[in-house]
Amino acid sequence: MLDLLVRNGLTVTPGGVGHLDIGISNGRIALLLDQGAEAPEAVEEIDAAGKIVVPGGIDPHVHTSWLIPTAAKEGLMCFPPEQVSLAAIHGGTTTIIDFATWLPGDTLQDSLERKERDWSKKSYTDYAYHCILKGEIPFEVIEQIPEAVSAGYPSFKVFMTNTTPSRPPQKIGLGDIWAVLEQLARHDGILAVHAEDDDIVMFSYRRLAHEGKWSYENVHLAHNSLSEAVSFRRLINLLERVGGRAYFMHVSAEEGVRAVREAQAAGLAVYAETLQHYLSFTSDDYKRPGGAMFHTYPSLKSAGDVAALWEGVRQGTIQTVATDEMCTSLEVKLRGHTIDDVTGGHAGVEVRMGVMYTEAVVKRGLSVEHFANITSANAAKIFGMYPRKGAIAVGSDADVVVLDPTISRRLTASELHETDYTPWEGWEVRAWPATTILRGTVMVRDGKLVGTQGEGTWIARKLGPVHGA
Ligand SMILES: [Zn+2]
Repeated sequence: MLDLLVRNGLTVTPGGVGHLDIGISNGRIALLLDQGAEAPEAVEEIDAAGKIVVPGGIDPHVHTSWLIPTAAKEGLMCFPPEQVSLAAIHGGTTTIIDFATWLPGDTLQDSLERKERDWSKKSYTDYAYHCILKGEIPFEVIEQIPEAVSAGYPSFKVFMTNTTPSRPPQKIGLGDIWAVLEQLARHDGILAVHAEDDDIVMFSYRRLAHEGKWSYENVHLAHNSLSEAVSFRRLINLLERVGGRAYFMHVSAEEGVRAVREAQAAGLAVYAETLQHYLSFTSDDYKRPGGAMFHTYPSLKSAGDVAALWEGVRQGTIQTVATDEMCTSLEVKLRGHTIDDVTGGHAGVEVRMGVMYTEAVVKRGLSVEHFANITSANAAKIFGMYPRKGAIAVGSDADVVVLDPTISRRLTASELHETDYTPWEGWEVRAWPATTILRGTVMVRDGKLVGTQGEGTWIARKLGPVHGA
């Protein structure tokens, strides 16, 4: 007897899209059956007729309980795992990758354990962490990287810029990146990068101050395409010589897409993420009333850049669409007024699947398989969770989303579970999760939460060798 049977849906599997029923037992997918074949009995059945069944969403770039860098002096934090994961599960995302920040004096294990205390028993989704390294990294910490990788934490994030002149330092020098990358290359890890050229960014701040362009609508002139181009190529240059693999977070410009495309064509293990935010808005949106709502670092760019990002998604140059979630109230989001203190990060984890289905599949004609890849499977592959996560396949975790593509819904913050605003207020979405299942447990049914907090668990991750089978 199965625990659960999802029947009559159009199911997206790694082998293609088909009319397949999904049998679930002990939290895993036990069988996939052609519809019409006789199914074994199940304790519960879900009728997915007329719906599209996809693997649970994976958001590989989410911050929770994180000191908001531009509000660090006031000690303001973004929302915690319980709130963010609640919003995520309502929107069909079943796994989140957050960040564990290494602090001076910590061992890597200290940093990871501290973050686990934030998440443990509080989450509605499964979760994992990238480890963030900042500043000058002691050699004993660099030497701890292999142990952390083998303990299930193969991804490390670094910042190539301090981002704004007045926030606490976070930049890591190219020499330290070299040492980190050597370890990751040797031990099957991956470097995740916030790549902006610090010299260009900081000079741009000086020049914008000189020109009197200090208000936040000019933030894209500090976090510009030149900075993206130079820093991406610098990191790729390093990778080419040291080996290993790199993942560019929040690619925002045509220049970034081009650098990644060339590196991939040269056979380097380079991956790219963009944000649904960068696919949705341009720097002109900064000029709207409350336009700071649309900002996240690096910055929104031109309509031409947005078109290039979509082309990057279409061609597979960009593999993932994340949120860079840093959820706050609207008041906190709008507290900054200058290019130095405008609040980055944003809300979006709940609407990601619905917005991306609408924008990618309905409006731009991408296939539902491509949609499942950019919202789930690719992140699982890049970060070492595949095929446990990101696949509707026998043996995979039963993280399953039944999407209703017949609806037409106008998004409004008051109907979401995230915060008191959404940048997508008034946007029409043409699909929304009817049912979300986490490891065989129905968490959301007909838009209503039925699962319990604490259902989510930490997921150990492991990568094979670069270009391995
Ligand atoms: Zn981020």
